Formats: sequence, C-alpha cells, structure tokens
Amino acid sequence: MSIELYKDANHACILFTDLVPDEEAVQANQFLIVDHGEGVILDPGGNMTYNELSLTMRKYIAPNNLDYIVASHADPDIIASLDRWMTASQAKLVISSLWARFAPHFCKLGKTDNRVVAVPDAGGRLRYGQTSLWLLPAHFMHSEGNFQFYDPVSKILFSGDLGVSLLSGVEAGHVITNLQPFPHGMEAFHRRYMVSNKILKLWVNMVRQLDIVMIAPQHGAPIAGAAIGQLLDWLDGLACGIDIMGPGQYQLPQGDLRV
Ligand code: FE
Repeated sequence: MSIELYKDANHACILFTDLVPDEEAVQANQFLIVDHGEGVILDPGGNMTYNELSLTMRKYIAPNNLDYIVASHADPDIIASLDRWMTASQAKLVISSLWARFAPHFCKLGKTDNRVVAVPDAGGRLRYGQTSLWLLPAHFMHSEGNFQFYDPVSKILFSGDLGVSLLSGVEAGHVITNLQPFPHGMEAFHRRYMVSNKILKLWVNMVRQLDIVMIAPQHGAPIAGAAIGQLLDWLDGLACGIDIMGPGQYQLPQGDLRV
C-alpha cells in the first residue's frame, strides 16, 4: 500500500508502510520523493521490501529516473537491498561518510564503484529535480553517522529512527496528531536506542528552526499537528541511552540463553 503524504503537479512524497510481513520482522517505512520527474528513495529497506517497492514505485517514476538512494544509516532494514537497487537503477547511494566504505558489503564486487556519495558530518543539500533534499545531522540517533531528511517543498521531516513507534503496517498508515497516549513502543524504543539527552536536545534545537508540517519516521506512523510539538518537548527532556545505563547493566551474564 502506498500513501501520498504530499502531492502537487510537480512534487510528490510517497510512504510505503506495509511491505514487511508483521509477523516476520519489525515494521518499516520506505519513502519515495519525486520532483519534476526525478526521484530519490529514502531508506528502501531490505530484501523483503524490494519487489513490492520497485513495482509500486513505477506508478510514480521509472527506476532509471531515480537519482539517489538516500540512507539515514546502514542498518539492514535501511539498505540491505542495496545490491538490487544498484542493479535496477543508475542511482547513487548517499550515506554518511562513516558508512560509505561499509555499505558496499551489501553488494556484489564492483557494484558501488563511483556510485557512493559520502556525506560529511555537517550534512548538506542534495540537488535533484528542481529542488533539494536537506541532509540534516542526526548523529547518534541512533547510529553514529546518521542523517535525517527535510523536504522543503512538502515541509516533511523524514526522521529515520527518531519519532518511531512500533505498530503494524496498517496502523502505521494512520497519521498521529496527538501523542497522548503514547503510541505503542515509542517510549521504550527511544529510551534504549537513543544515545543520550544531550544529543536529543541538540537535535531539538536544530529542528525547531524548521517549518515542519509532518515528521515521518522509518518505523510506525507519521506525526503531525499538535503531536509535533509534543514530540519535540518530550524528547528535549528525555533521559535515554547512556543517561540511564549504570553498573547494573554491565554485569557478567549468569543465566543460559534459551535457544
Ligand atoms: Fe537502525
């Protein structure tokens, strides 16, 4: 199922929520942005999503017109399908410089030659079509080299693993406009996956400068309306990651794993 988060005559942002079987792996979203006939695909996912995504996106753009495969970081649910996308298109991979030489491990020999754009920590604006995608620093949220993506046309912030909730593919298709009560999994996810409150505060300060109409995370439902401010306020005060780790979490293991 594809959902048009934004569409005008020249520009569209498409969300795919349900390409991963719920019982098999964590739900994950993939995004396609098309501007004046050229496109970028964000966090296209692993091998489970490839077939359906590449078929469905043809409604909007031919794989040949895909300029970039943009990856927030290098996890399996982000770009494990890289080899297939590199084969099906001429697109370049855009990824943190920290991962630029690790990502080719997803591919056959030679497939990424001269096709990896290594993004420096400061990020940048990636031109395609007649606009640009802003690559915002989001390091340690959760990956060490991590970017989020802001589309100045739709004013959607594609926030990767920030703002995530753990929902089914169908549930993830419904926009959340109020964070009371918290969507399933949101609090536990951020407490364990985000590195520290210091990082969250730096990020909140940065994104408050943006005009945001929607935050679209890589897992769970998009966030809009009052929920955007609620999310920023909550993250600004959230203790997480190393803030809440202590000696209790670093004890030699005692029990046998049940396998
Ligand atoms: Fe990840």
